[in-house]
Amino acid sequence: MDVARLRADTPGCAEVTHLNNAGAALPPRPVLEAVTGHLALEAAIGGYEAAEREASAIERFYGAVAGLVGARPDEIAYVENATRAWDMAFYAIPFAPGDRILTTSGEYSSNAIAYRQVAAAKGARVEVVPDGPDGTISLEALDAELAKGGVRLVSLNHVPTHNGLVNPAAEVGRRCAEHGVLYLLDACQSVGQLAVDVREIGCDMMSATGRKFLRGPRGTGFLYVRREIVAALEPPFLDLRAAEWRAPDYEPRPDARRFETWERFTAGQLGLAAAADYASALGMDEIEKRVTSLAATLRGELSARPGTSVLDRGTHRSGIVTFTVDGHEPEAIKQAARERGINVNVTSPAAHGYAPDAVPEAVRASVHYYNTEEEIDRLLAALP
Ligand SMILES: *Cc1c(COP(=O)(O)O)cnc(C)c1O
Repeated sequence: MDVARLRADTPGCAEVTHLNNAGAALPPRPVLEAVTGHLALEAAIGGYEAAEREASAIERFYGAVAGLVGARPDEIAYVENATRAWDMAFYAIPFAPGDRILTTSGEYSSNAIAYRQVAAAKGARVEVVPDGPDGTISLEALDAELAKGGVRLVSLNHVPTHNGLVNPAAEVGRRCAEHGVLYLLDACQSVGQLAVDVREIGCDMMSATGRKFLRGPRGTGFLYVRREIVAALEPPFLDLRAAEWRAPDYEPRPDARRFETWERFTAGQLGLAAAADYASALGMDEIEKRVTSLAATLRGELSARPGTSVLDRGTHRSGIVTFTVDGHEPEAIKQAARERGINVNVTSPAAHGYAPDAVPEAVRASVHYYNTEEEIDRLLAALP
């Protein structure tokens, strides 16, 4: 990987040491140009007219995103963020009283809120599958729960937002397929940093965001829904793009675009397509190799510092590195780093799903392939 060229292609690299890629990564120039170029075109000739002129580029979004994650273009929906993408799939599932929803301890809190709401409204039951010894979902426990029957959905984070671990998504997928259970994967923190292939993983639905490791614009995301199950999922909201109005009735679109809305951030769609193309051109395997090795370097350096504790669990780990320094508040560390031009973030227990007290508030440094060993040294030098 030609890191110098990739940094030259990233305007933000000249401004900051950006180690908050799990929050929002720095976009590369082609993403920036796709967004600003389209905004300028809309301002110059009109929004509808700009969309007409760029119709084929806008349509190409579906192929670009599908190509990145091993899906077919008709299985992809463009959604304003990952939470709404996830919601559109989750709330489309026709839960019945007693249906079991299996999830994990580190579930994203927005998802946990949705489970609770559906449990109250539909009588579904939410159950947290215990962690295995390395902090990822216990496959033995999952086997036992699936064997009991009554499971409607298995739903988990591929990579949680507050920990470096990577859940064994494909092993979960094999089990869901064996039991004929729906499988929803929140891949917000994995798409763009790890090679993610929906067929290999075997998920039925998968959500992701634009702004994190994918390096796309904020306010963009996408949803994958396996072609064979689209017809069984009626989204909670339908508009005149998601469905065809034939007075006095309607017909939902036959493809994943039934989860979309007509009005959208078109410049963002073009930007997200550019981000998917950019990642695919570099190669997700290459990206994963560089990101995970930089993260391993950072963890090694942090572990060697007296008083510093690396909190990441998991046998297979991602580019997210979480740690604490004895006697120093994570927020103070974040602010001290910011004053030196280094961006990191703080994970709060409120985002730790069903085990808020399992890990303390921590500093989160999330690396991308455009980061360098020198930047890691700069962070280490800024720590108390
Ligand atoms: C960031 C995040 C989300 C939400 O993504 P948005 O694009 O902000 O809606 C969902 N799940 C996980 C695991 C995340 O880290």
